[in-house]
Amino acid sequence: MSKNGRRAVVVDDDPLLQRLVCSLMERRGYQVRGAGSVAQARDLLAAEPAEVIILDLALGEEDGVDLLEHLSALGSKAAILPVSGFDRRVLRSAAHLGRALGLTVLEPLRKPFTSAQLGEALDAIPPELLPVAESDLAQALADDVLVVRYQPKVNLADGRVVGAEALVRWNDPRRGLIPPEQFIGLAEGGPLIHALTQRVLDQALAACAAWRGLGHEIGVSVNISARSLSDPDLPGQVEELARRHGLPPGALTLEITETVAMREVDTTMKLLTRLRLRGFALSIDDFGTGYSSLVELHRMPFSELKIDRSFVTGLDHDADAATITRAIISLGHALGLSVVAEGVEGGGVAEALREMGCDQAQGYHFDRALTAQELLGRLAATG
Ligand code: C2E
Ligand code: MG
Ligand code: MG
Repeated sequence: MSKNGRRAVVVDDDPLLQRLVCSLMERRGYQVRGAGSVAQARDLLAAEPAEVIILDLALGEEDGVDLLEHLSALGSKAAILPVSGFDRRVLRSAAHLGRALGLTVLEPLRKPFTSAQLGEALDAIPPELLPVAESDLAQALADDVLVVRYQPKVNLADGRVVGAEALVRWNDPRRGLIPPEQFIGLAEGGPLIHALTQRVLDQALAACAAWRGLGHEIGVSVNISARSLSDPDLPGQVEELARRHGLPPGALTLEITETVAMREVDTTMKLLTRLRLRGFALSIDDFGTGYSSLVELHRMPFSELKIDRSFVTGLDHDADAATITRAIISLGHALGLSVVAEGVEGGGVAEALREMGCDQAQGYHFDRALTAQELLGRLAATG
């Protein structure tokens, strides 16, 4: 049986039953670990999370409710299948309790159950209830179902589209479009982030080359993860990709979030300098959420500063947000950076930013993230 890559923990104090359930799940491709007590289950889950937990509700001294509370405190996203010899009402109230704790609890299974019944219960888990696993992401990369959308960046002085930010989404046939927040962190934990970054860069550069080929001289921005910044091959790879798509390096902006850029200043500085020397533009993203030292900000070779949307979105009715935004704009300009505001959701904010001298903006007020083709339509309409 092929591996499905999902990690499961089977919690049961009956060693025979535990082994039986474990082997059945192994046959279904799960990576299984067994626990005989709540304490053991806690240790296993602390070492490595699981996507599926089979939980016997009566565990000698302790009961499954302790583990449900622990899982809730951990913020576990696992699909939990409660099993017990108690009558259905007890099972149902335990399931209800788990759900009230914010957990994903499946329809309980009453002991004794046959292997076919357990199999059915596992098959019945709706895919959207299962947290995404690293193996799913690897498969998504292999199936080429990561898609890129482009949010226009608008020049505030004349309203023209001057660039677009590439934002990745995972187009899962069963779950629909999964937002980056649900899988970038997962990718960053391992080697997949390199493949992901390459894939997004490749698609974004291809799209940009197509827009420019039709006479729209705009640039494209790509978000770069913390981990990619420790990869000494990155500058060479980016250069090779831009060359392959026939794009001048100035057409590409790499966005690095402020928290990441300032974490390991020395390594980051070396890599950013090598990218800048090759002619790529660099943007410091989500500015205002990290703790930049002004000296370091001055020394880092950024060309653009992006104000975090937490300051931008409400600045037309929040005096503090407006003051901070105004200060960031003058700081950016004093350092010779182009200043972009993200998260502009209304016309009042766009107008306020223009008056403050902010150079560019993006946000729902102008456009959502569009397909490459939709962006072309937008460019054709506005010139
Ligand atoms: P980010 O780089 O700060 O991207 C801006 C996010 O704000 C995007 O969310 C965008 O859709 C959203 N947004 C745009 N306009 C508005 C607005 O007016 N109001 C509000 N409330 N939100 C707006 P998205 O696409 O979900 O991306 C979230 C984050 O995921 C990005 O934040 C970026 O850090 C990361 N990300 C996205 N694509 C990639 C990628 O290809 N590689 C890496 N490493 N990270 C990526
Ligand atoms: Mg960004
Ligand atoms: Mg941002």
